[in-house]
Amino acid sequence: MDPSVELCSYPGLDERIVIVRAGDEVDGVFVRTERFNVLIDTLGTPEQCKTALDLLGIDARPLIVINSHMDWDHFWGNAAIAGRAPIIAHAAALERLRDPSTQQVLEDKVSQDSRFRNVELIGPDITFSGSMVLNGGDLTLELIHTPGHTPDHVAVWIPELRTCLAVDAVEYPVPEVWSRRADDLRLLRSSLSRIRDLNARLVIPAHGQTSSPSTVDENLAYFEALADRVGDLSESRLADPQLGSASGFRLEDFVAMADRMPDDVATFYRNCHETNLGATVQAHIEKLKST
Ligand SMILES: [Zn+2]
Repeated sequence: MDPSVELCSYPGLDERIVIVRAGDEVDGVFVRTERFNVLIDTLGTPEQCKTALDLLGIDARPLIVINSHMDWDHFWGNAAIAGRAPIIAHAAALERLRDPSTQQVLEDKVSQDSRFRNVELIGPDITFSGSMVLNGGDLTLELIHTPGHTPDHVAVWIPELRTCLAVDAVEYPVPEVWSRRADDLRLLRSSLSRIRDLNARLVIPAHGQTSSPSTVDENLAYFEALADRVGDLSESRLADPQLGSASGFRLEDFVAMADRMPDDVATFYRNCHETNLGATVQAHIEKLKST
């Protein structure tokens, strides 16, 4: 069954912004501006997205939809939008849609869970490179390319409210890098720095249900600590495939895991950490080779 969809907010969050929460799975965000409404992400199924639109009770203003990136939990609700509103995403989203792995993820998930049976892979109507600005009159939405978690990842900055919708570039307890390649780690760390430098009052990720800008600093400190610890390793330890389960290198050695975190969530973030560690090791090996 689909996680139920509800609307919520955070202390201090402007009332023009609404969090669209699909259980523990993902948060989308709705922004009401003078000129138009904006929905950032369509959740994991068309049914969830339709429920969200019904709950929001959208008025006569035009609707613009942004897909933050082509991970299933952020855009599989697009079928509820197609033909109703233009969908905007970064140009790199098109390459991800064309990649056979995107179709494979859908087939795998449909075979495991019937709630995905109505999902269609629907791509964006409008794409951009670099950045894009939506001028809503009272509010401005700056779409910032923030790769690293995925190549197509976009965060949204609303300067009037000093609020950053960071989606998956920032995550509690840790974000996940796209691959074990050093380049992707560099991109993720520079996207995190870019978000930190916005000096936001609120930073709202799509997972973790937090709005505190301290999550950005904690994510940056985590990658810094990871690099420091890997930097002290001998060459043989660097090649150890079990490094992630060795004392001092496990996820819990870097971040205080919330006691209430369910087992499957903890397993998910341990896997993220494994990828992050692998990319950190790769970055260190490349650094050693170049000196
Ligand atoms: Zn996500």
